[in-house]
Amino acid sequence: NRQIVLNSRPVGAPTLENFRLVESKIPVLAADEVLLRTMYLSLDPYMRGRMSDTPSYAPPVELNAVMVGGTVARVEASNHADFKVGDIVLSFSGWQDYAVANGASLNKLSPTLAQPSIALGALGMPGFTAYMGLLDIGQPKAGETVVVAAASGAVGAIVGQIAKLKGCRVVGIAGGADKCAYVVDELGFDACIDRKNSDFAAQLAAACPAGIDVYFENVGGAVFDAVLPLLNVSARVPVCGLIASYNDSQLPAGPDRMGMLMSTLLKKRIKMQGFIIFDDYGHRYGEFFTAMSEWLAAGKIKFKEDRVDGLENAPAAFIGLLEGKNFGKLVVRVAD
Ligand code: NDP
Repeated sequence: NRQIVLNSRPVGAPTLENFRLVESKIPVLAADEVLLRTMYLSLDPYMRGRMSDTPSYAPPVELNAVMVGGTVARVEASNHADFKVGDIVLSFSGWQDYAVANGASLNKLSPTLAQPSIALGALGMPGFTAYMGLLDIGQPKAGETVVVAAASGAVGAIVGQIAKLKGCRVVGIAGGADKCAYVVDELGFDACIDRKNSDFAAQLAAACPAGIDVYFENVGGAVFDAVLPLLNVSARVPVCGLIASYNDSQLPAGPDRMGMLMSTLLKKRIKMQGFIIFDDYGHRYGEFFTAMSEWLAAGKIKFKEDRVDGLENAPAAFIGLLEGKNFGKLVVRVAD
């Protein structure tokens, strides 16, 4: 059983040395337990937080422990009445070939799913995050302007497409011309601005002639600097993620802009709200699942996966995610 464990805690951006591949024996099953073979491992930005031991909403991965992560897995052996060999399940097996889970912690996936890894993307945690953050906190109304960064990624792509279904003008922000072209041509956003352009802020302003009513925050950093002056009175800002600063170990140098931020929030009566998807909205997963299943079946929501082959390639792929190298939902194919 190959496992990738946390070898050391990163200072700044993670490196390959922070991970280590080890071999272990496949455990023996106890009552109600199920042996799982990982098929797909989801790589997500929150894993950067788990590599650090600074206080957060979830405990860190311990040194030498298997990296955590959502997985789609096949049941290889079962001591649980609800699962039989060959069932495909959504599990939290982490970065390893095999895992033992209590049957009570697993969700069986429908055999009719054309592509089971979608349960890690549009029909799973990232899609759920997009759905609740946009609709519950963002409260978009037809005709309003919605802006989302990391727009070709797992969460951002879904945010923009749901906003289009709600009748909004949708402007994406992404890193690179190919991602921007995909966001407009394939996903149907009204515009997409390349954050790497030197006149990015001016281009964003030109793409939002009526200002911004909902800014779905995925990245922070320089992108938020460009967004802040464009926010309208009564704008809503669901704060979902701040990936631009996940590798920072201290505040950036420069003038203190906290006063400017606070006075903008005050004068424009802007509502900014953070959320942690399953902590805050776990009870609404069913509602999301029904809506998203219908949209996907009707072809109203499109979904792109960036698939990397081989568990051994997970560390490099994860490092790339924090550098914007992924194009679509990043998933590792561990086994067929
Ligand atoms: P993505 O698939 O969008 O991949 C991450 C993307 O972030 C990269 O491709 C890149 O896109 C962008 N990025 C990376 N570095 C920077 C940077 N320095 N500045 C600006 N953009 C950068 O990831 P997800 O969709 O899975 O996650 C998006 C966000 O949502 C993350 O912040 C994540 O932590 C958060 N999240 C929060 C949840 C919650 O419960 N609050 C749940 C799930 C996700 P590009 O190059 O195109 O800009």
